[in-house]
Amino acid sequence: MHIVVCAKQTPSTTAVLAVANGKVTWSDPGGSPDIANPWDEYAVEEAIRLIEAHGGKITALSMGPEDAREALKTAIAMGCDDAVHITDSRMKGSDTLATSYVLAQAIKKLDDVDLVIFGRQAIDGDTAQTSMQVARRLGWTPLSFVAAVNEVDLAERTITVTRSIEAGRQKVKGPLPAALSVLKEINEPRYPSFKGIRKATKYMASDLQVWGVAELGADPSKVGSAGARVRWPEVFAPPPREGECTMIEADTPDGVAALLVSKLLEEKVL
Ligand SMILES: Cc1cc2nc3c(=O)[nH]c(=O)nc-3n(C[C@H](O)[C@H](O)[C@H](O)COP(=O)(O)OP(=O)(O)OC[C@H]3O[C@@H](n4cnc5c(N)ncnc54)[C@H](O)[C@@H]3O)c2cc1C
Repeated sequence: MHIVVCAKQTPSTTAVLAVANGKVTWSDPGGSPDIANPWDEYAVEEAIRLIEAHGGKITALSMGPEDAREALKTAIAMGCDDAVHITDSRMKGSDTLATSYVLAQAIKKLDDVDLVIFGRQAIDGDTAQTSMQVARRLGWTPLSFVAAVNEVDLAERTITVTRSIEAGRQKVKGPLPAALSVLKEINEPRYPSFKGIRKATKYMASDLQVWGVAELGADPSKVGSAGARVRWPEVFAPPPREGECTMIEADTPDGVAALLVSKLLEEKVL
């Protein structure tokens, strides 16, 4: 079985973001400002578990500038076999439509893929659209919000998963190849081992494949800002939240509770 994992580089969860002149910048005095999108680690983990059960290989894909490589390094360190960095100056200004086009082209180029796994969403862009757009572009079975992979039947060429939906759970079965977006409850991602980190450092220096528009055989009018349908006419920081704090004081805890209740009734919260 050949599984592809799509992984994106995002600002770290503790990064301090700033917006100036329509540009978002971030820094993290406490550590690396960029990390692999945390949701994508669940995708990598699920791919590793499926390969442990069925055999095969995992290829990690990331589209983005130079710093996207950190997401690929994490994927290799965790246990992926190969990684492809998709980068090209013409991919600048991508929206999800342009991103999904490029990722689908890369998956087509890999040719023998059975399953592509995505994180539920990227913690920066937050649209959760890319995975299902890739499924649509490839014409593959689209399975979003997957909480468990119940069975992969390679002889029958089917996959059965449990989806988490607002009203409960849903077990669904569809033909391979398929595209999945996975939720946090699907597994507990492993920490990369020391050996894995060393392997990833070596891999990134000598074996990483880099594909651009030409290598993908992509139509330049469908990538980056040329292929994007979304424009960002303005990017700005939300106004700071305003509020006031009232300290409720009384001699006893019961007195504090009584004052709090009367205040909440007064404000029509209760
Ligand atoms: C003003 C602005 C300018 C931008 N300019 C660029 C740009 O120049 N270049 C650029 O690449 N992006 C750019 N982006 C970001 C881009 O629009 C989105 O990140 C991208 O379309 C994916 O959408 P998302 O982040 O909501 O991902 P989601 O749809 O929430 O991601 C779902 C899953 O899809 C996968 N995925 C998403 N993106 C990638 C990726 N790039 N590589 C591999 N897997 C992925 C991951 O598994 C992820 O968990 C820009 C965004 C804005 C707001």
